[in-house]
Amino acid sequence: MPYHAWFQCFRGCEGRYALTDVIYVCPTCGGLLEVAHDMDALKTKPPEAWKALFDSRYMHTEWPYGSSVWGKKEMVCPVVDEDNVVSMFEGGSNLFWAERLGSQIGVDDLWVKQCGNSHTGSFKDLGMTVLVSIVNQMVAEGKNIPAVACASTGDTSAALAAYCASAGMQAVVFLPANKISEAQLLQPLANGALVLSLDTDFDGCMKLVQSVCTEENIYLANSMNSLRVEGQKTISVELLQQFDWEIPDWIVIPGGNLGNVSALGKGFLELQQMGIIERLPRIAVAQSANADPLYQSFLKNFDAFEAQEAQPTLASAIQIGDPISFEKAIQILRVFNGVVEHATEQELAEAAALADRTGLFCCPHTGVAFAALLKLLKRGVIQKSDRVIVISTAHGLKFTEFKVHYHQDQLQAFGVHPKHNNRPVSLPPDLDAVKAAIFEAIENKGS
Ligand SMILES: *Cc1c(COP(=O)(O)O)cnc(C)c1O
Ligand SMILES: [Zn+2]
Repeated sequence: MPYHAWFQCFRGCEGRYALTDVIYVCPTCGGLLEVAHDMDALKTKPPEAWKALFDSRYMHTEWPYGSSVWGKKEMVCPVVDEDNVVSMFEGGSNLFWAERLGSQIGVDDLWVKQCGNSHTGSFKDLGMTVLVSIVNQMVAEGKNIPAVACASTGDTSAALAAYCASAGMQAVVFLPANKISEAQLLQPLANGALVLSLDTDFDGCMKLVQSVCTEENIYLANSMNSLRVEGQKTISVELLQQFDWEIPDWIVIPGGNLGNVSALGKGFLELQQMGIIERLPRIAVAQSANADPLYQSFLKNFDAFEAQEAQPTLASAIQIGDPISFEKAIQILRVFNGVVEHATEQELAEAAALADRTGLFCCPHTGVAFAALLKLLKRGVIQKSDRVIVISTAHGLKFTEFKVHYHQDQLQAFGVHPKHNNRPVSLPPDLDAVKAAIFEAIENKGS
């Protein structure tokens, strides 16, 4: 096998570990690991040949390369045998040209990467396919791994449960009670996972699952496990493929545990090392103002980072006060000349509703990203002429409570006063009444 990858300390301590070793942190300093690739091997193929190879596989049927993650297998996870790959044809999500929204908010070239249009409805599928495939390979090699576990704000657990069910493995998910949506709770239940509903927040679940996985031979599937980052980094490659390898100016991405922004940046940096791209886009991380430790750190030039106790937010998947990947995220933002913006509950709810009025159906986290974009445009950080991509992280249908309560004006507890809410019109089955309602709606649209 000409291509090779291994775990190593993200902070640079000595030591390399196999991707099939059960190891989550650096044994020397306790910091995060990262997956490193044999770059010399990757560089032996010229950039044009890589592009042609990735494009030839994209959305085609040859197992497992039609998956947009496994279509980049050489630079993602070369050590997994094809037979052990657990894939659901992830990636390949559409780019939504947000022309109408862009013209309303003052961006000429606005796009939404619909990562929620995927098997379990969020970008978490991209990373989970890599992690579960590695576990499948370890089991095939005879390792005793009776279960795979994660703490989650709802989407990681849905992805883990689905991939484990597909591979016939036991998933165990640690969820903060009453802090995830109904659909997110239903997903792992339907897939047969052991669902632990715990009276704590995400950060509390994270501590517990880490202890369980350290003390027992249960495999940890959180994004502190850097295998997930490898799958998620393919967002960068796929975006470029969808733009015929042109580099955008800005990417706006919601951030919670900060694995995804780390992944996005890692993808671009490796493409640069492989000679496939010459310059880098800029990155804006969007946080909820109720869980914004990275934003607070950004205000201090990233000189210090302090964990917070995250407050309740409608953007429940990013209600994280103690993000595991903050060091990786800060390193990426420094290299990409990045910024961080935050959004209040009112701002995120209105931004999501405004975008919905132009044909989208935004989850609250995508609402945070749009709200941040609006503020960055207003401040002149992002310019009207820039090509901007908003990463939509989940499907809006996973968050129907958010939508229902917004349109019913029932989000007072979050300080939200809806301006774009829409209610069903109840009428008797009467022709004149129906016509009157239609004419009234047409008139109001003009006003
Ligand atoms: C996980 C998740 C995020 C945050 O990603 P991180 O890697 O934790 O920063 C944002 N939005 C949704 C919908 C998610 O599921
Ligand atoms: Zn170390």
